[in-house]
Amino acid sequence: MGTVVSFDIDGTLEVGVPPGIITLAAVRAARGRGYVIGTCSARTLADQRRIWGRLGLSPDFTVLKHRLADVRASFTALAYYHIGDTDIDEHFAGLAGFRFLRADAASVRAWGPELLPGWPDLGTDHAGKGETR
Ligand SMILES: [Mg+2]
Repeated sequence: MGTVVSFDIDGTLEVGVPPGIITLAAVRAARGRGYVIGTCSARTLADQRRIWGRLGLSPDFTVLKHRLADVRASFTALAYYHIGDTDIDEHFAGLAGFRFLRADAASVRAWGPELLPGWPDLGTDHAGKGETR
């Protein structure tokens, strides 16, 4: 039916503090494939929505980190992914029934092509930050 992709922000997205490996292009690619996308972060919902506004994208959801299960309940899908950079992300992903995808270069090389076929940034962006194609 569909795919839900939840993004952590800080340490995960390139617009996070610190910046992470997941580029805006990747977020757009997920949207372009029709995935249900949003953020799941310790940041306030208002702050999360501000970030989406800056990206010029409208998210399908914004939730606090411990509320990921609400997203699972809100969208019927075949696959649920949470992309994050810490063990806390992994913990809450597991509790909510999401597959955890770690946002570091080695991990992204492994799961990137599966999530977004033909997404070259994921497989080759070894440095992670500060590179644009
Ligand atoms: Mg993080």
